[in-house]
Amino acid sequence: MTARIPQCPTIAFLAAILASGCSGNGKQAEPANKEELPRVVVTIPPLKYFVDRIGGDRVTVECLAPASADPETFEPSMAQLRKASNAELMLTTGLLPFEEKVAEAISSSNPGIRITPLNGSIKLIEGTHDHGDDGHSHPHEPHGNYDPHIWTSLRNARTMARGTYEALLAASPADSLYFKSRLDSLDHHLDSLDMATSIRLAPTKGRTILVWHPSLSYFARDYGLHQLAIGNEHKESSITGLKERLDLARHEKPMVFFYQREYDSRQAETVTDATGLHPVTIAPLSENIEEAINKAADAIAGTADNDNNNDTTQK
Ligand SMILES: [Zn+2]
Repeated sequence: MTARIPQCPTIAFLAAILASGCSGNGKQAEPANKEELPRVVVTIPPLKYFVDRIGGDRVTVECLAPASADPETFEPSMAQLRKASNAELMLTTGLLPFEEKVAEAISSSNPGIRITPLNGSIKLIEGTHDHGDDGHSHPHEPHGNYDPHIWTSLRNARTMARGTYEALLAASPADSLYFKSRLDSLDHHLDSLDMATSIRLAPTKGRTILVWHPSLSYFARDYGLHQLAIGNEHKESSITGLKERLDLARHEKPMVFFYQREYDSRQAETVTDATGLHPVTIAPLSENIEEAINKAADAIAGTADNDNNNDTTQK
């Protein structure tokens, strides 16, 4: 009789790779003390920010997706997956399609791993991302049509920091005081940064920011901005579709146009031609979430200052 086809061949395949990756073959010598530290794996670079800040030198951390990847279409390679084969803890956003596949593959080869999504109590934004248009149904997708870019918000970052702390605490209770003091200082830092950003961006409330990909939805919500996405979900836009969105964009008089390098589209030039706005490159998948958020805030605040100066000059 024919063997029953597994529900998802990709997962079975990944699990087999991971199992083979656990063999002692080619094992690298590492300093004994580092070897004893709890091993944490994160799915995307922004999550490494939290583990580094809170876990410090008491944990080791590996990241699955590189910063250059598009996390919404990313498929990890065998080498990337092996990073998780002996981890004790995996932190995810809980919202990206590849995280679910990786979690299933890892759980079967490394059943002891704890997988913690960091979206916690964050109020998720819907409607910016449509993942249902690929012709397949995804009944078990946890990410649905929620906007996965929860890390581009200082307010969400505070929630994610707490989630990371709780997960690290469970992995290494002996380090509770160390983790707690680092969580407290990170929380204060993010809170002050958020307050400063709120003050800087207060004059821009209600204004529109143009993005190629909707990666700043939570940032925009925090500071009362309207994010307008020009690009089409991971596809080249049709000329008509792009023209319609550009007409809408011109109408809203956007302040800035944010563009991500990983979306290598010549259509960004069309946006500049149509709106007169030069693209400000942002790296929302950077490990340094503060830098990415600050760069966006700087560009918006800078435009607001220029607008004010122009108004004064014209009077
Ligand atoms: Zn996205």
